[in-house]
Amino acid sequence: MNSLIKMINDPFLILEKAYNHGRLAHAYLFTGGGIEHMRAMARRVGALINCENAESSSCGKCISCRKIAEDKHPDVQFIKPAGAMRKLKIDQIRSMHDIAHMKPYEGRNKLFVFIEADTLNAEASNALLKILEEPPVCTFFILISLHPEKLFTTILSRCQRVRFIRNDDSCFTELSLKDGSLSDIELTLLKELTGGDIETAKRWLDEGIFERKIQAHNILNKALQPGGYSSFVMADKILVELETNRKEREKLLSEEMRKLKDVEKSYLKNIESEGNAQIAGEYREEILGIWDVFAFGIRQFYLKNLNDSKCPIMELMKFVEEGRKRSISNVPFRLILESFFLKLKEAVNSPAS
Ligand SMILES: [Zn+2]
Repeated sequence: MNSLIKMINDPFLILEKAYNHGRLAHAYLFTGGGIEHMRAMARRVGALINCENAESSSCGKCISCRKIAEDKHPDVQFIKPAGAMRKLKIDQIRSMHDIAHMKPYEGRNKLFVFIEADTLNAEASNALLKILEEPPVCTFFILISLHPEKLFTTILSRCQRVRFIRNDDSCFTELSLKDGSLSDIELTLLKELTGGDIETAKRWLDEGIFERKIQAHNILNKALQPGGYSSFVMADKILVELETNRKEREKLLSEEMRKLKDVEKSYLKNIESEGNAQIAGEYREEILGIWDVFAFGIRQFYLKNLNDSKCPIMELMKFVEEGRKRSISNVPFRLILESFFLKLKEAVNSPAS
């Protein structure tokens, strides 16, 4: 298989490459593919940064690798939601904080892995943020979450995102039989973007989220062809759908609030701000998710044009990553999309030889 495609399909290879070049980020957010799968990947990262075998980056045979595989290595710690509410609590963050500032016990590096990081409450998130802002040397963090829309933006902005895909097809095959309206490519898109998580896939189909992703995919395909819409029109088409959905959700929320008018005011305010935070979080995830749709579309385009050595895949992927990074800044999303489409059209219509 083409090594670039292989690397995109196995995100671990990207992390390995970053580590070998001394460019491993201090904090990653793992999403997709199921908690257990991501947990196994986090173990691989732990082995990568602590393996004793100089020839390999995670041999699986040395004492360090074996301890990590059994969750017995003191420098690779998994922090799980606790208590009746199944939350990651401030006490857990505090005790991690103390250990994080000590030297590794046995290995070269320490790794802290937060399972279901979306269960961090505001207090615990703030405590974690302080460490992520100034990470101690030789210390790495992995946040594992199937619901990144529930994480605080401040935390997200400190983490590099890595998306995993589960390779179990059976549920998706069932889904495609039930929902015959999806084409093969759409089903692949759905599977890939949800990281193979069937519950997310069903929710996206029910709530119209996937419809918007298909639309973004179609618009990208148009942009990859000569002619078509202007970059302004393409950005607009994507944004109108997103904004309409957001406004509808806000309208629904305020209707719900009106029905609750007999409830105590402070309680009401709480529900309202939680509801608004959720709508904002989901909107943000959809915006970030557009870049995954684009990356998928560009990869498909590349696979179709494998024989065309002039296909500027690296350049196009770079535009996607730039767009993704800019999307967590304060630049209006419309401008980011417009400039993305502009660059994309230029690159495709006059590829560098
Ligand atoms: Zn090893």
